[in-house]
Amino acid sequence: MSGGEGSGRLGNVITNPEGELPPPVTSPGPHSSQRGAKNPPNLLRRPCMYLACFVKSLPVFFISGIVGWSYYAYVIALILYAMIDNPIEQVLCGIVYHYLFLMFFWSYGMTIFTPPGRVPDNWHLSRHATAALSAAKSEEEWKDTLGKVGNKMGCNTKQRSVQGALRYCEKCECIKPDRAHHCSVCEQCILKMDHHCPWVNNCVGFRNYKFFMLFLCYALLYCIFIAATSARYFVRFWSDSLSIGTSKYHIIFVFLVSVLFTISIFSLFWYHVYLVTQNRSTLEQFRAPVFEDQATDKEGWSLGSFNNFKEVFGMNPLLWPFPVSSSVGDGLSFPHSRAKQFNNYHSIGNSDGRVAETPTRTLVNPIISGGGQVSTSHTIHSSHASSVQQSGNISALSGNVTPLSATEVVLDTNGHAKTVSVHPSVHGLGGVVPSEVVIQ
Ligand code: ZN
Ligand code: ZN
Repeated sequence: MSGGEGSGRLGNVITNPEGELPPPVTSPGPHSSQRGAKNPPNLLRRPCMYLACFVKSLPVFFISGIVGWSYYAYVIALILYAMIDNPIEQVLCGIVYHYLFLMFFWSYGMTIFTPPGRVPDNWHLSRHATAALSAAKSEEEWKDTLGKVGNKMGCNTKQRSVQGALRYCEKCECIKPDRAHHCSVCEQCILKMDHHCPWVNNCVGFRNYKFFMLFLCYALLYCIFIAATSARYFVRFWSDSLSIGTSKYHIIFVFLVSVLFTISIFSLFWYHVYLVTQNRSTLEQFRAPVFEDQATDKEGWSLGSFNNFKEVFGMNPLLWPFPVSSSVGDGLSFPHSRAKQFNNYHSIGNSDGRVAETPTRTLVNPIISGGGQVSTSHTIHSSHASSVQQSGNISALSGNVTPLSATEVVLDTNGHAKTVSVHPSVHGLGGVVPSEVVIQ
């Protein structure tokens, strides 16, 4: 929990284990911004780029080729030839196989072609701001300047670098939203980056993580189904009772390949199931995020297993099995379990990254006492926008019966409502605590 103390300075260079604090303070000057100086013209650049694209796409071609061949091996060799004596098995296997085949390719395609989520333009620093950062002469001045710039830009983040500064990407010259990281392969910052996957030739991030999960799921089901239904014919091959010519070799190999892939995908899939239930990306599994209070917390984004699942797969169960966008939120801000505020997606889904314009208001809803009396109070707070207020509302309760489950409706700074519980017996009169982290 003390990873936030890891910052340090070596000579005049401010070190940054996360690669988030760039400032080489020994090279000041308002003209040190490199934006626009990148990508010098080069006649070899374009052909090399195509070659690199082709090489990076090879794993995708490989997977597609294997699956294409498996279609022939399963449908032609197995269903049409080997299962010729059992039409019911042919029909059932044909239906299930084509369903899994379709879902697999749909998920795979969506993972490949869906942009994982880039940082919006309004999170990128202006030339003036980058020049101001470059001119900073100490770490403190640099952090201070970045903080002011971030405030001015309305970048609202809860995560910090290990030095306690806003997280900044010197390559993209942008402030990193919570959970965003820079991908050196994609050469850009990716929202809620999980990892760069060569098998899909794409980053796995906020916008395609659900598709990636479904891709793993359907790939696993596809392989298990093929292995299970071809096992009997695989055995018959060795007993020499499979007389379908050369097609039987396809059955042998499709069985072996499906078993091989089942073993490989199995652990990866369950590892990501675990990460989803923990609300953790692969990167966060290796390095816990640092929050505003300088504490590292692996559980920081976790809202409980089911809520974590819904954060990725969405609120509508009907959409869970399909690779269509249904993840909750905007990828820029996330509810977290450390702070007891803004922990509902009602507000997050509408967040546009701007600074709140209205103060927090706490409205005490009607509370029915044991005597049937109804009492209300209404308090308006204008202090710090993100704090759950101590409203002192209990004193306004009428009657002499203590309410057992009084609640308050807290309007956050975006004007969205959230219900919290009041527990006077635990926190004293007027104590307000959020009942739980709720995805609404
Ligand atoms: Zn970046
Ligand atoms: Zn990438």
